[in-house]
Amino acid sequence: MTNPQHTFRVAKFGGTSVANYSAICAAVANVKSQNQPILVVVSACAGVTDRLVMLANESDNVESILSEIVHRHTEIADELSRLNRAGAVEKQLALDDLHDRLRQHVARRPTPHDASFVAWRDQLLSFGEYCSSLLFSWAWEAKTEQPSAVLEAKTWLFTDSRYGRARPQLKAMIEKAPQWLKTLEPGRLYVTQGFIGKNERGQTTTLGRGGSDYSAALLAVVVQAQELQIWTDVAGVYSTDPRLCSDAFAIAEMSFDEAAEMATFGAKVLHPASLLPAIEYQIPVFVGHAAYPARGGTRLVKNSTHKPDVRAVAVRKQQTLMTVHSIDMFHASGFLAQLFSIFAKYDISVDLITTSEVSIALTLDEGGSQANHAVSVPAAAIAEIELFAKVELEYNLTLIALIGNQIGRQSQLSQWVFDAVAPTPVRLICQGASEFNLCFLIPERDTVDVVTRLHERIKR
Ligand code: ADP
Ligand code: ASP
Ligand code: MG
Repeated sequence: MTNPQHTFRVAKFGGTSVANYSAICAAVANVKSQNQPILVVVSACAGVTDRLVMLANESDNVESILSEIVHRHTEIADELSRLNRAGAVEKQLALDDLHDRLRQHVARRPTPHDASFVAWRDQLLSFGEYCSSLLFSWAWEAKTEQPSAVLEAKTWLFTDSRYGRARPQLKAMIEKAPQWLKTLEPGRLYVTQGFIGKNERGQTTTLGRGGSDYSAALLAVVVQAQELQIWTDVAGVYSTDPRLCSDAFAIAEMSFDEAAEMATFGAKVLHPASLLPAIEYQIPVFVGHAAYPARGGTRLVKNSTHKPDVRAVAVRKQQTLMTVHSIDMFHASGFLAQLFSIFAKYDISVDLITTSEVSIALTLDEGGSQANHAVSVPAAAIAEIELFAKVELEYNLTLIALIGNQIGRQSQLSQWVFDAVAPTPVRLICQGASEFNLCFLIPERDTVDVVTRLHERIKR
């Protein structure tokens, strides 16, 4: 059990919220204004992980990409040194050291066929969060003149060795927590890295793109936090992606169930897995704008009093549809088991499934740390399926999910949805497994039109 005197809140700041000097200062002001014991979790500065992924994918421009990363951090460091000289030299040395280690690590690149490649890549991807956590902690001291320290994520986040998409070992983390919690000094602000963890061999692992939300939720469970705060670049979870529809509005309160569906089906604002620990341990979650906390945001609660039929439209682009046809499937048992054993073997994660007598259609999405979200199905997996069935792949599709309550029981709703989507060829529809969503797959080019039409139905 955690020592009850540690009544922390956990505050996670995403990439844009630590992107530059002014963003970090706004995030520091946000934490300061709460005047409460807070553990801070940070993402890498916006764009840094994308660049590290490029380095992992063997780009031609290694030097220029490295310089961009170093420049991004150095700009923030220079401003912090100007703001407050105290401690600046020591912090600058620590940042230079991280950059040197990054360069050395890049120089030691194994070939992608080498068994050590995946571990090397996760270590590479972790540099973004190491640098941003140092910068945040530095900014806190420079702005508030109060002490801060970096808390190594590897002290508290333990995972298996599934590099790029590591699975946390929550039980071990909870057991270990009292040991490191008792070393924390009251009055000092601790800043830890999101996204990264440690496996049983002590190596660095990562949780998949956008994984800092997940880290923050896990930390909240581990310290039995009063609240988990997800601070980002929008004032809460919106009725749809605000970049796609200008009428989108922030939802004041939603249930864990609705939010979990929303995150799973695409709302980038929350990492799909991040809510699970919070739901299971019933930790209240707040999502708000890092720089403008006064704008309010979204509260995620166990049960929401307001249960509209449609709450939101979640959108996930870059989906791949795989259709598997087999005449043998007709009345055959064991076909699905055979197919899914191949998916399991190649670690392919399947989202939606529909079946007919002789075919099965499914959507695939890859969320590992190395991915930029486009899926690549291993050729060997396809070859194995083709031994007993015909495989077709379609790319550039968007998954749209209507999130709400008792969606399947409203006949008028289905009628309206089909009308709204009618002008577009729908490639797949899924409904029924959960009462909180109805989803379908459409060509990516029709995304904005369909989202706009569906969103008209959503009331504030
Ligand atoms: P962070 O770096 O803070 O983790 P992300 O970029 O991962 O931020 O997530 C925030 C972004 O998610 C917003 O800028 C917004 O464009 C996008 N987004 C997609 N769907 C939604 C939604 N339903 N509500 C709010 N934001 C959404
Ligand atoms: N920095 C990681 C990413 O860009 C993790 C995160 O931001 O949540 O995916
Ligand atoms: Mg995110």
